[in-house]
Amino acid sequence: MGERSKLLFDRATRCIPGGVNSPVRAGKAVGIDPPFIARADGALLWDADGNEYIDYVCSWGPMILGHSHTEVVQALEESLRLGTSYGAPTEREVEMAETIVEVVPSIEMVRMVNSGTEATMSAIRLARGYTGREKIVKFDGCYHGHADSLLVSAGSGVATLGIPGSPGVPQDLARQTISLPFNDLEPVGKAFQKFGPEIAAVIVEPIPGNMGVIVPQQEFLDGLSQITREHGSLLIFDEVITGFRVAPGGAQELFGIMPDLTCLGKIIGGGLPVGAYGGKKDIMSKMAPEGDIYQAGTLSGNPLAMAAGLATLRILKKGDIYKELEDKASMLFLGLEEAARAAGIPSVINRIGSMGTLFFRADPVTDFETARASDQDLFKGYYKRMLEQGIYLAPSPFEATFVSTAHTQEMIRKTIKCAENALQDL
Ligand SMILES: *Cc1c(COP(=O)(O)O)cnc(C)c1O
Repeated sequence: MGERSKLLFDRATRCIPGGVNSPVRAGKAVGIDPPFIARADGALLWDADGNEYIDYVCSWGPMILGHSHTEVVQALEESLRLGTSYGAPTEREVEMAETIVEVVPSIEMVRMVNSGTEATMSAIRLARGYTGREKIVKFDGCYHGHADSLLVSAGSGVATLGIPGSPGVPQDLARQTISLPFNDLEPVGKAFQKFGPEIAAVIVEPIPGNMGVIVPQQEFLDGLSQITREHGSLLIFDEVITGFRVAPGGAQELFGIMPDLTCLGKIIGGGLPVGAYGGKKDIMSKMAPEGDIYQAGTLSGNPLAMAAGLATLRILKKGDIYKELEDKASMLFLGLEEAARAAGIPSVINRIGSMGTLFFRADPVTDFETARASDQDLFKGYYKRMLEQGIYLAPSPFEATFVSTAHTQEMIRKTIKCAENALQDL
């Protein structure tokens, strides 16, 4: 890495644990010290040493329109002059809620929070409060933020760093979480046979992105919907990545499923810190002050975050954006597949719309076990060679590659060329 990034990382490690404010960023899994980013525009990033990168992390998903989109910047500038936080209701929060209710099929009522973690944590509390039950079913390799109940067998950084769970999570709470293999209904049926009347909710990433992208079987998602209904449990779709990513209405629109609750984040903040959870009116109205289940936030519905989010959603609602994203992502991943084949490297591409993952494995990747069986050393070598050529990927084999509207065909062609070089060199 460049000199300035090195110096900054040195300073950072002295005063921030591991030098980063979110673990995967440190690059441990791929054996690098991270470049420190100074600036971004469109699909490009520049680090503190002035190196330019084509960005496929997109801030881990939010930047679906690229960085510093003119309309988002303009909305922020206008909002900035009106004050940055009031801790009081605003018109923009109403607009945000109305937009989400209009676009996301199952959401009738929604509450804004400040991160995806807060969204899932609050949805779980609501599910427990609403059903009067305590157990939660989740799936191995799905990541739902870092709340206590949801860190069991989690994906993302927990998977990347090979951490089984986390010290500090009370045993009693972890025991209330049942984690099962993704894409497999049979264990779900068994869990409900055994614990049915105790299960408050099933929470799932309908299209997992945190063990790398996994394509869900339609029958699996249908089955979850049916079994939760039969047992009086709630189905929670964690669409923090997929909301407005795979379609305006997220995975539930694509797969035609109506979950009881939905968690959102990432894209709906347009690059500012945001989360939201919503669902059926009779469930959501149990939240205080209408109901008695408590959840609050000093900065929730923050005016700047609402401005950036609304400007983003306004553009995404136009719809033709998703055709453009599909075409670009398809071009990229077909190119990567071909590059791997030409280099004689076994690979699997999992992709839905503009989120995808290249796994180094000969057999299909359908769950956490098969994702973990991919060749992580090969990924490490590939990652380093891509970074050296100015291609910025997530520094972990268990993450998604995101394409934005700001990626041009020329950038994608260059990326494929770099992948050919990297894969030939492995
Ligand atoms: C990113 C993510 C979260 C957590 O969101 P934060 O804003 O990082 O707290 C939760 N669920 C999924 C599916 C995510 O991808």
